Amino acid sequence: MHDTADPATDRDNADILHQRVLTLFCEALEVNEAQPMDVLETLAAALGKVYREVADAHMPPRHCVCGWQPSAYADVHALQYALARAALPAPLSSLALSPVIGHA
Ligand SMILES: [Zn+2]
Repeated sequence: MHDTADPATDRDNADILHQRVLTLFCEALEVNEAQPMDVLETLAAALGKVYREVADAHMPPRHCVCGWQPSAYADVHALQYALARAALPAPLSSLALSPVIGHA
């Protein structure tokens, strides 16, 4: 994640996004009378679509001027890492996020 120079601003922005996503989740749960995991999977898919749209805007022929160069596998891995770090309880999180040692 690209942080600003002010950690408090980063935290505030993250809190605002969290509240907005939580509001969307609650609305979808209520309106659709859906199960929590169904709504969460739909939200995760929506985030993936946002990634794809933003990445496409940074590739030929569109080339956004900001200079970011998408790398789909590394970027999706970073998104998975962020999801796991935020979602898993601390002991599981540290196990799930530790580097894989050796190869099968
Ligand atoms: Zn850009």
